[in-house]
Amino acid sequence: MQDSSHGQPHISARRCRVCGRCIDACPRGVLELDEDRICIIHPELCDACLACEEACEQAAIEVSFAIVWARSVADPPDRD
Ligand code: SF4
Ligand code: SF4
Repeated sequence: MQDSSHGQPHISARRCRVCGRCIDACPRGVLELDEDRICIIHPELCDACLACEEACEQAAIEVSFAIVWARSVADPPDRD
């Protein structure tokens, strides 16, 4: 059973045009404009929804994500 997933956005400074579309698209306030660059201010809030990736016309933001699987009740207990 899937327990949770979380993401980590990565931004290519070379490709980014600092248009802010990813900030507007993010429903969780992960990204913020800081002078002339996009900053990831709350990476812990990212749930890997990929809205920022889809909003970016420069393909400058990419979200890697991890899926954490809950232990099955059928798993044997750890032995010390
Ligand atoms: S949408 Fe893309 S190009 Fe625009 S600020 Fe975000 S990463 Fe940069
Ligand atoms: S994947 Fe979703 S929650 Fe994470 S930074 Fe992008 S828009 Fe925000």
